[in-house]
Amino acid sequence: MRIASIDDRATLIIENGEDLQGVDIEKWSNGKFPSNTRELLPHLDELRTWVKDHDSDADIFPVSWDSLESPITDPRQIFAIGMNYQAHAEEVAIAAPEVPAVFTKFATSLSGARKAISLPSDSVDWEIELVAIIGRGGRNISREDALDHIAGYAVGQDLSDRALQFAASSSPQFSLGKSYAGFAPVGPWMTTSDEVADPGQLKMRCAVGEEVLQDGSTANLIFDIPTLVEHLSSVVELAPGDLIFTGTPDGVGFGRNPKRYLRTGEELVSTIEGLGEIRQLFS
Ligand code: ZN
Repeated sequence: MRIASIDDRATLIIENGEDLQGVDIEKWSNGKFPSNTRELLPHLDELRTWVKDHDSDADIFPVSWDSLESPITDPRQIFAIGMNYQAHAEEVAIAAPEVPAVFTKFATSLSGARKAISLPSDSVDWEIELVAIIGRGGRNISREDALDHIAGYAVGQDLSDRALQFAASSSPQFSLGKSYAGFAPVGPWMTTSDEVADPGQLKMRCAVGEEVLQDGSTANLIFDIPTLVEHLSSVVELAPGDLIFTGTPDGVGFGRNPKRYLRTGEELVSTIEGLGEIRQLFS
């Protein structure tokens, strides 16, 4: 299933391509399922069965790409992982860590699949990332059980103002420098994990026009998703709807000589195999 959030309501996306259509899950089910996507996550198995047994024809409405919000609009926690691809660590000349390097993107930076973003400075960089969405929470989740706790996946961009990120030279402030308005676009929807054969084998790329900026694969993650879930849940309690930005492959603008940052009028197109595409237009 592909589940989007539109006007803060869980919407089953039933057609792909440019002509999107959707069904409002709460209305279609006469209130059997909640309208909020985060609250819906514990009921996905039941929903999957329900969808197979019910006809949605009368409830289908056209969906505009612009209306797609982050599939989770109100997560309790957002985790992001730094330096989780060897080639990326090398390009920015930061040693790859021995344990996952964790920071947050504040929830007010979440944005949807095709929302315009205002550039706060001339040093804003791109980082395409696979985003894992926690479906079942808990503490001390083992590697072996970890994937059962993931509800689904989406395409994310960990947009970063490099000037602010490294402004405090002795103590980089990753979280704030990556949390301006719109700096955490996630989308275009959540693809449920039963439809993702192997989250560790997904090709990903982002581009501005013909210029390919990043071209990578989650096969090159240093700490894979089970390891991240085990590590995070050994410290904090995970909850349904928590988001994990799993890190970015090489190709960021900060690692180039000369550095290359996003400019007004550019549209950043980010794609992950099987999960879809998000587009951010910068002004
Ligand atoms: Zn990142």
